[in-house]
Amino acid sequence: MAELFYDADADLSIIQGRKVAVIGYGSQGHAHALSLRDSGVDVRVGLHEGSKSKAKAEEQGLRVVSPSEAAAEADVIMILVPDPIQAQVYEEHIAPNLKDGDALFFGHGLNIRYGFIKPPAGVDVCMVAPKGPGHLVRRQYEEGRGVPCIAAVEQDASGNAFALALSYAKGIGGTRAGVIKTTFTEETETDLFGEQAVLCGGTAALVKAGFETLTEAGYQPEIAYFECLHELKLIVDLMYEGGLEKMRWSISETAEWGDYVTGPRIITDATKAEMKKVLAEIQDGTFAQQWMDEYHGGLKKYNEYKKQDSEHLLETTGKQLRKLMSWVDEEA
Ligand code: NDP
Ligand code: MG
Ligand code: MG
Repeated sequence: MAELFYDADADLSIIQGRKVAVIGYGSQGHAHALSLRDSGVDVRVGLHEGSKSKAKAEEQGLRVVSPSEAAAEADVIMILVPDPIQAQVYEEHIAPNLKDGDALFFGHGLNIRYGFIKPPAGVDVCMVAPKGPGHLVRRQYEEGRGVPCIAAVEQDASGNAFALALSYAKGIGGTRAGVIKTTFTEETETDLFGEQAVLCGGTAALVKAGFETLTEAGYQPEIAYFECLHELKLIVDLMYEGGLEKMRWSISETAEWGDYVTGPRIITDATKAEMKKVLAEIQDGTFAQQWMDEYHGGLKKYNEYKKQDSEHLLETTGKQLRKLMSWVDEEA
């Protein structure tokens, strides 16, 4: 069973006694910096020249300096810039300013897991990753609650790295909800697998295939959109609240019978065999290397796939239909 930690297991005074740099002020960065500050922690934000988020951070009462200055001033450095540029930011701004006894923090383990960042032996290497988007992390904190986090230590130079990670997690409200102990390897591999095979890749492909099957058979795209995409939210909400059991309690017996007999014909043994291949490519680093090459090669295929899907009948149909639903918020 997973090891869980709550407020009583974490000592906030540890992180209150350190100087924290949050590098980046996006989805996660703003939530960490603001909530740490409100928890009585000495925080500065490190942002690059021309950063779009600088004005916002300053407006919200934070001190913004360059990533190099932030790393030099601080002894806990949380890297919350996009994963593909972390190695470059680390090499240029952070590594030259790291001292023995410092701690390097991450919100996701990719760069450590695949060795794109190799910290020196004298620093703690920790992860605190909220299991939710940054805006929810901040809102929950402000409401006196928290989003569950996972925490890990890759390198324990001080001998107290996990206590430091728990203290940081407490500063952003994580221990109010619960912190699960993991490793960089487990977090990175399961995160990549989940988003590729199930949450993003798997779901998008399932929705598209279902929509195409109906429209190619001559059914109206609008009807196919409702059946294959729109209603998915209602089903997922039920799963989120009470697992498969609550979803099956709510749907009709006809739908439940179809679930049992047809689901395994769609996600077959061959699908699962392919999932295992996907996982193997994540574990051996093939996926991470290909993604870094694609990113630094100018995102050519990425942009091609993006364009193809934005022109798909599913998407053009959805754009029109969502205008009929005033309660669906396009901005969110
Ligand atoms: P975002 O893309 O939302 O934000 C990135 C931030 O980094 C922006 O403020 C951007 O500034 C800034 N930035 C870009 N380049 C530089 C640079 N060279 N130096 C300093 N700052 C820079 O990132 P996320 O919050 O989504 O992701 C951050 C980390 O958190 C990643 O490791 C991610 O995997 C992890 N994570 C993210 C989650 C999420 O909910 N999004 C959930 C859990 C983990 P500007 O835009 O002003 O130019
Ligand atoms: Mg991810
Ligand atoms: Mg139906």
